[in-house]
Amino acid sequence: MKRLAHLIGGQAASSSRARISPVFNPATGEQAAELELASASTVREAITKANNAFAEWSSRTPINRARIMFRYKQLLQDNMDELAVLVSREHGKTLDDARGSITRGIEIVEFACGIPQLLKGEFSANVGSGVDSYNIRQPLGVCAGITPFNFPAMVPLWMFPVALACGNTFILKPSEKTPSCPLRMVELAHEAGVPKDVLHVVNGDKEAVDAILHDARVQAVSFVGSTPIAEYIYRTGTSNDKRVQALGGAKNHMIVMPDADVSHVRDALIGSAFGSAGERCMAVSVAVCVGKETADSVRDAVSEAAQKLNVGPYTDGDADFGPLSSEIHMNKVVSYIDKGVAEGADLVVDGRNLNLQGYEKGYFVGPTVFDRVTSDMTIYKEEIFGPVLGIVRCSSYSDAVSLVDNHELGNGAALFTNDGGVSRHFVEKTQIGMVGVNVPIPVPVAYHSFGGWKRSLFGDHHMHGPEGIRFYTKLKTATIAWPAGANTGPEFSIPVLS
Ligand code: NAD
Repeated sequence: MKRLAHLIGGQAASSSRARISPVFNPATGEQAAELELASASTVREAITKANNAFAEWSSRTPINRARIMFRYKQLLQDNMDELAVLVSREHGKTLDDARGSITRGIEIVEFACGIPQLLKGEFSANVGSGVDSYNIRQPLGVCAGITPFNFPAMVPLWMFPVALACGNTFILKPSEKTPSCPLRMVELAHEAGVPKDVLHVVNGDKEAVDAILHDARVQAVSFVGSTPIAEYIYRTGTSNDKRVQALGGAKNHMIVMPDADVSHVRDALIGSAFGSAGERCMAVSVAVCVGKETADSVRDAVSEAAQKLNVGPYTDGDADFGPLSSEIHMNKVVSYIDKGVAEGADLVVDGRNLNLQGYEKGYFVGPTVFDRVTSDMTIYKEEIFGPVLGIVRCSSYSDAVSLVDNHELGNGAALFTNDGGVSRHFVEKTQIGMVGVNVPIPVPVAYHSFGGWKRSLFGDHHMHGPEGIRFYTKLKTATIAWPAGANTGPEFSIPVLS
C-alpha cells in the first residue's frame, strides 16, 4: 500500500508510530493509499524551520520572488496532466474539471508574479516642511493554510503563492482525503526555487490543525472548509492573536426571472448544480423561480436534461460528473434526499440507487431535482454538497431576494434576467459576497478577491487579489524629515505639520 506523509524541509517526513488515515479512490471505493497524520511535534518541527527561514526569504527583493513564481507557473503548466490525475483519482471529478481547477489556481500564481507592482506603497512628498511620508507593506512571518477536499489544487494555490510572494513562509495542511496533489505541487514549488524551508506540507487532522492554531510563531491562518470548522478556526485562531480568514460553506441561489431565456437557464443550472457532483462551494443548489410559468418551464427543462447526464469515473472521458468524495458523504447526501421526500418536496428526478456496472462500490449519486422546496425544509436550509437541485417557487422578485438575504450562508448568488433595473438592484442590494448576473458560478478571477458574506466567511479579508495582499502583509507608515532641521526642544502636544 502506498504510504504518504509530510514534506518538511523538502524531505518526506515519515514516522512508523504515526496515526494513519486511509485515502480512497471514490470511483471504485478501493483504498488507494494510507496517509500519516501529523502529531503536534511534527507540526512544530515544520513551524521551526519556516520560522528560521523567514529572515532570509523576506529580505529578498520582490523581483527575485516574482521570478520564482514565473518558473512555478511554468512547472505547474508542464505537469498539468499528472496533477489532474492526482486530483481526479482522490476526489473523483472528471479530468477536464480537474484541469480547469488547476488552471484557475495557476492564474493566482500569475497574479503573484506581479508582486513588485502589488507591494508598491503610497508616497506623499512634503507632508510638512521638509517632511515626506510613505507606507510599505511588510510580510507577517509564518503563515498556515488549511484546505478542503474538494479543490486539492486550486484552494492551496489561492493561498501559498500570494503568501510567499509577499515574503512569508508557509505551512500547508491539506485535506486528508485528497493529499497527493498538494504534496506534488509543493515539490514543484521547491523545484521552481522556493527554498525548501520556506514551504512545508503537514498532513493531518484536528491534532495538526490545533498545533497550528496554538503555536505563537504562526502569525496568520487561511482556512477553507465547512462553516462549523471555519468558525472554530476563526475563534481559536483569533483568540490566540492570529490573523484569520476562514471561508465556510455555501447555499447558492439562482433567481430566474420570467424574462430569462429558458434554454440558457437550463444549461446554466445543469452545469452549476451537477458539475463536480455539486461538490463546489459555488455550486448552485437552489433555483428560485419567479412566477408559476417560469417554475414549470425550468422544472421541465432541467429535469429532462438532468436525466440525460452521464455519471461515471474520471477515466470515462464521456462522464459529465463523477462520484462523491467518500462513502460517508454519499450516505449523507442520500439521507438528505430521503429527508426532502419525507418533508414534502416533489422529487422530480431521483439520483439514489445509481448502479454503475464495474463501479458498484463507487460513491455515485445521480442528478437529483426537487420541485416545490420551501424555506422551512432541511434540504433548503442546509448545505448538501451533492448533485441535488431544489426549485423554490416565488411570486415576485422581492420575495426571491428576501429568500436569498435571509439564508444564513452568503457565498454566491446569481440572477438570470434581461432587465437592467432588476439586475442593478440585485448586484447592489443582495447580502451575498459574490454575485453573478447571467453567470451561474461567479467565481472572481485571480486579480479580484474571493469570499462570501454572513456565515460563509469569518474574518475581514477575502482570498487572493488585492485582499490577499492585504491579508498576508502588515502596513507600516513612515514619516521622515530631511534635513534633520534645528532642535527646537521637546513638544508635548501632538505634532502638527505645516
Ligand atoms: P471540512 O471543514 O470538513 O475540512 C476542511 C479542513 O479542516 C480539512 O483540512 C480538515 O482536515 C480540517 N478539519 C476537519 N475537521 C476539523 C476539526 N474538527 N478541527 C480542525 N480541523 C478540522 O471541509 P471539507 O469537507 O473538506 O470541504 C467541504 C466544505 O468546504 C463544504 O462545506 C464547502 O462549501 C466548503 N468549501 C468552501 C469554499 C469557500 O470558498 N467558501 C471553497 C471550497 C469548499
